[in-house]
Amino acid sequence: MENIKISCPKCSWEPDGGAWWNCSCGTTWNSFDTVGVCPGCNRKWHMTQCPGPGFPGGCGKWSKHDNWYIIPFDPVAFVEKVQQQSMDKSNI
Ligand SMILES: [Zn+2]
Ligand SMILES: [Zn+2]
Repeated sequence: MENIKISCPKCSWEPDGGAWWNCSCGTTWNSFDTVGVCPGCNRKWHMTQCPGPGFPGGCGKWSKHDNWYIIPFDPVAFVEKVQQQSMDKSNI
């Protein structure tokens, strides 16, 4: 999971590792420790709310949990990979 950044898709707030999420079963936890799965009842939360006012930051809006993860795209590494693949093909 290295190089993966987590931030709100709506306001770019970055979770600070705090337990700001409440499940309907009463568990409070950090949703990004478990990729949106409640440790109390194993419910998978596909939507994650940005904490918002009253919390350390955020906008209070709901977004798809998957959209919080930002995987950096490295164009140089991508081009090198494509070139390597075409060289492998020409050697056959
Ligand atoms: Zn729960
Ligand atoms: Zn937000």
